[in-house]
Amino acid sequence: MRSSRVWKRLLGVEHTVIESVELVGFDDQGRGEEIVVARVRPTRSRRLRCSRCGRRCRGYDRGDGRRRWRALDLGTVRCYLEAEAPRVSCPEHAVVVAAVPWARPGARCTTGFEDTTAWLAAHAAGSTVAELLRVTWRTVTAIVTRVVAERAGRVDLLDGLERIGIDEIAHRKGHRYLTVVVDQVTGRIVWASPGRDAATLRGFFDALGEARSAAITHVSADGAEWIHTVVTERAPQAVLGMDPFHVVAWATKALDEVRRGTWNELRTTGRTEAAKTLKGSRWALIKNPEDLTGEQQATLASITKTNRRLYRAYLLKEQLREVFAAKGQWGRRLLAGWLSWARRSRIPAFVKLAKTIERYKQLILNTLDHGMSNAKSEATNTHLRVLTRRAYGFHTADALIAMAMLTRGGLCPPLPRRTT
Ligand SMILES: [Zn+2]
Repeated sequence: MRSSRVWKRLLGVEHTVIESVELVGFDDQGRGEEIVVARVRPTRSRRLRCSRCGRRCRGYDRGDGRRRWRALDLGTVRCYLEAEAPRVSCPEHAVVVAAVPWARPGARCTTGFEDTTAWLAAHAAGSTVAELLRVTWRTVTAIVTRVVAERAGRVDLLDGLERIGIDEIAHRKGHRYLTVVVDQVTGRIVWASPGRDAATLRGFFDALGEARSAAITHVSADGAEWIHTVVTERAPQAVLGMDPFHVVAWATKALDEVRRGTWNELRTTGRTEAAKTLKGSRWALIKNPEDLTGEQQATLASITKTNRRLYRAYLLKEQLREVFAAKGQWGRRLLAGWLSWARRSRIPAFVKLAKTIERYKQLILNTLDHGMSNAKSEATNTHLRVLTRRAYGFHTADALIAMAMLTRGGLCPPLPRRTT
């Protein structure tokens, strides 16, 4: 029947028989918002299959009877598929709801609807996704979790790892942490788990296994003791380095301390005009010089004239960035120069920073000697921080991890029927 083929295409279903399509009211009495309901059933070969293993099984009972799955809107109208949801008796998985070809097990929406939701969640703001698809954010995170779990089951993200970055990310306003492992070559998140301690990280190496752990050549991290302990224990051949962006972040923090100190000094000594100019200088000082706006460049120029100390602190921060941009022998020389400059700077925040850097010197030298890259882990770190700060939030660490794997783990599904 020709119209049946048209409907199958429109609804994006396969192995499905369309019994009828009707425009009805949303509620039980058929009132309220008009929706399209397509009554469907799996084709003969897809009936009575276990939703866990796909095996053909004996029917058990009718389950909860007929139910509906949200499908993609048809034009402006919401659309649902409606079908029986019988239970089957699987020799391996006991009594389970039978699989349906149009939806994932346990899902209240069709696979096409879920893939669209997940794709949008990876590409647009949460409020946009919720508004456009007429779902709550909670539904979006549940869908993302299910889609990511399914896709993660199909590929082994831990295969072929050589250079990795290990990072800790705070969420829940800094009360909880995730440990995240990034492939430094592809920039992908390959593993994440709640917690930040040796036991958590051992979980990663357990999943990796001995052979693949032995293939790891470089590990960069933020200098945390527990990371070193576990890497030395499980991948002793790997070169351990410091992630440059953590070191630069220390310098940025020290610079901010100097800026605030200077501002307070100006204020208490009655130089309010100068203090006011300085107050707006934070971004001019923190941003990379090449990213400054015209106004910020002017602010910086005025600091060079009016406040030599703050400007020296700024140069110290910039010079430290230069160390990592240079790498290798030249990087080593710049670092030695930087350390002696900072030590003699008479700026307490930078004298202190010089001590910290001295303590991590071997790790930093490893980073310079092995040209351990920075960009990938920094981009991931920044992205994760944005995710954790999103206003709508994530109710659980698992939801946050699923979202991170969706956007940075290469697990985002293509839009329905757009597979290349
Ligand atoms: Zn089964």
